[in-house]
Amino acid sequence: MEKVDITIIGAGVVGLAIAAYVSDKSRNVLVVEKHKSFGQETSSRNSEVIHASIYYPKNSLKGKLCLEGNEMLCELCHKYNIPHKNTGKLIVACNDEEVAKLPILLNTAMNNGAKGVHIISQDEVKKMEPNVEARAAIYCPTSGIVDSHSLMRHYEAMAIENGANAIYGIEVVSIDKASGGYIVGYKDRSEVRGKFQSRILINCAGLESGKISEMAGINQDEAGYRIQRCKGIYFRVRHGIEKFPKMLIYPVPPVHGHVGVHTTPDLGGGMRLGPHFYWTDEMDLNVDESYREYFYESAVRFLPFLKIEDLQPDIAGFYPTRQKPGEGLIDFIIKHESERGLDNFINLVGIESPGLTASPAIGKYVKELIDNSIYLL
Ligand SMILES: Cc1cc2nc3c(=O)[nH]c(=O)nc-3n(C[C@H](O)[C@H](O)[C@H](O)COP(=O)(O)OP(=O)(O)OC[C@H]3O[C@@H](n4cnc5c(N)ncnc54)[C@H](O)[C@@H]3O)c2cc1C
Repeated sequence: MEKVDITIIGAGVVGLAIAAYVSDKSRNVLVVEKHKSFGQETSSRNSEVIHASIYYPKNSLKGKLCLEGNEMLCELCHKYNIPHKNTGKLIVACNDEEVAKLPILLNTAMNNGAKGVHIISQDEVKKMEPNVEARAAIYCPTSGIVDSHSLMRHYEAMAIENGANAIYGIEVVSIDKASGGYIVGYKDRSEVRGKFQSRILINCAGLESGKISEMAGINQDEAGYRIQRCKGIYFRVRHGIEKFPKMLIYPVPPVHGHVGVHTTPDLGGGMRLGPHFYWTDEMDLNVDESYREYFYESAVRFLPFLKIEDLQPDIAGFYPTRQKPGEGLIDFIIKHESERGLDNFINLVGIESPGLTASPAIGKYVKELIDNSIYLL
């Protein structure tokens, strides 16, 4: 049976970032992905925002890895010419109630260490973004956008250069503990099955990360690892490009745990609104036209130039979240499962937003988990 040192299950932005950071010529690292190429799921269906680390609870993994990831990602983008833009972001308050919430939000952002965030006046908003309506705002200078596909291509190239292998069209279907690691069962796209042995397993399966945990012997409900079906949808604004804000424009979060429908400028000069998300049993990626009015009402408050007829359904994505309806923000799980008797199993579950931003910091964090572990290798 073929043997490898480290297997990473899933070639989304997180699995590929980890592959880039943990690979070196002394280790045999393998990435297995069920689709024919990388990034076919959540990593291609998001806002592509480089977050500044604003909303997360103090000392959360999300907050720490987002902050570090923001800096690391900007450096990577500059160094390797990965298309990106440091747009900056405004969180706009449109009425008295929202103005009163800005200092609380600013405090959370400062507790997270977000750089350069401060409150600006109505006049300053107008100077920065003449077509945006707000009574005041929080300015976040380190937010931006990145081409997620180019980023994933970069991570994949970095991993391969370090000696790693990426195999596509291979779905992991079973995991059995064995002496010296795990026996991984897989099937290919023609249903041909096989097995190989891996000393370390890293679960980066996104929406399937609860299921992979279960394969390894963890009860996903008892562990709180079940991924909920939470869909995020977008509308594109078709006309009025001359009025589109250059920065990211976010509302004051309407409810705890939701950032609200916001603008995302794309690198081609277009603009999307979203995501609006909701829990559903739907599996499909269609965007229901009936949400047009909701999107319009949410955004016209701060984008008065919007016309409802210009909104066109765009993409949708599912959050790999553990958060249930009504719950507030919940943290990433990134850990050894040694306390569950799974010594060489590193588990990443619920890597929702800001997983794209945090990806290089997650790669570094997992490398440190492996390098400093008494359990591994
Ligand atoms: C609507 C939306 C907006 C978002 N906006 C942002 C944003 O602006 N900024 C930001 O930082 N983050 C954002 N995020 C979060 C970010 O997109 C995710 O955190 C990130 O893409 C997760 O990457 P991943 O590699 O963990 O998951 P994925 O991209 O889902 O990759 C997991 C991979 O595992 C593979 N896989 C699953 N099971 C198996 C198996 N059994 N065998 C082999 N392969 C398997 C899948 O095919 C998939 O390719 C957003 C998310 C959503 C849904």
